[in-house]
Amino acid sequence: MTLAKPNRVYIFSTISFSSVFWHSFRNHSKVSFIARKTVQTMATKHWLKVTILRGLKFFGFFSVARALTNDSVRIICYHGISIADQAKFHPGLFMRLEVLAGRLKLLKDGGWPIISLNKAVSVIESGPITGAPIVITFDDGWKSIGDFAAPLLSQYGMHSTLYVTTYYVERRADVFNVALYYLFWKTKHTQLIVQKGHAAIDGTYDLTKGHAQVTARLIDFSSTHLTWQQRQEFLEQLAVSLGVDPIAAFAEGRFNVSTLDDLRRLPALGMDIQLHTHRHRLPNNSFDAMVKEISDNQQVLKTTTAEPLVHFCYPSGIYGNEHPDWLRACGVTSATTLEPGLNSVGSNPFLLKRILDRDNWSDIEFEAAISGLRELPHALWRRLKETQIIKWLNQY
Ligand SMILES: [Zn+2]
Repeated sequence: MTLAKPNRVYIFSTISFSSVFWHSFRNHSKVSFIARKTVQTMATKHWLKVTILRGLKFFGFFSVARALTNDSVRIICYHGISIADQAKFHPGLFMRLEVLAGRLKLLKDGGWPIISLNKAVSVIESGPITGAPIVITFDDGWKSIGDFAAPLLSQYGMHSTLYVTTYYVERRADVFNVALYYLFWKTKHTQLIVQKGHAAIDGTYDLTKGHAQVTARLIDFSSTHLTWQQRQEFLEQLAVSLGVDPIAAFAEGRFNVSTLDDLRRLPALGMDIQLHTHRHRLPNNSFDAMVKEISDNQQVLKTTTAEPLVHFCYPSGIYGNEHPDWLRACGVTSATTLEPGLNSVGSNPFLLKRILDRDNWSDIEFEAAISGLRELPHALWRRLKETQIIKWLNQY
């Protein structure tokens, strides 16, 4: 969620993928056939995966994985709650509330201990970690999280962390690039005519082969030539040009982030507010530029919480080798990535791994992820190495 390039790596690639299928269905019978076959293959693979996971759970592999990795912290990552069809648009970015409610019930019924991020960082640094604890995090600060997720978590008595990007907190506008991608996902048009009076973007765009190039061009142009108010107007103009009703498309604040007043209500519901940069980008060419992103972020958020603003989440999960040291130098004490995995004692607190839950995961896929099934071979080997048998074998 930013005006410039950083989100491209994360959101852009996924949307481009969607668009290939979207236009294939509409415009090309041959491609449509291939796309249908591909979707069928994907559905078959998903069914097979779920069936195998059910079998593994039945035979106790989930319990074994949880027991062998109970000395690791799981940090789960969410973004926004889906209003209308956003979960279909981007299931990794928006989750239906009923799906999230199902996950929280699963965590409660499974006796998973939910701990704060503060506590997690403390035990990762100095141990001990016991009981396979879980941290729940939300990225970006979408309005829907304050409106729907926070009250739900509060009902369950579950603590969580909300990483907030603050540029749009101070501006009542839709998050431009996400709303833009949504319009292109939503449109049934096969071409777009732009007449903005700027040679950089004016022209007719063929949408039958995807929209990666046109969206990149429009975002680049808008971030350098338009004010945030002009970008909002441009979004509405684009919606009309793409045959999408702008009032319906942007209704209920579905592409808004929380206001300061919204954020101030969240700590009382057990949601800890933390850092995600001001403009959803993390400069890597200048320490001072990076510090400015953090300090601008802290400046906006300082009236929303009494807790220190010291935990950070890399925008779009992107970071460079220099960032852990730079973040430490400006007073940050932890940083989360989008790299999948668990965190044990001694893990780098500035490169914390997370589990990105998504709307199109079934409960069994989510349960497999938090059980540590993926880490089971490594955990098994690690535990075996601790036994006398392996030490004895190593002598020969
Ligand atoms: Zn983000």
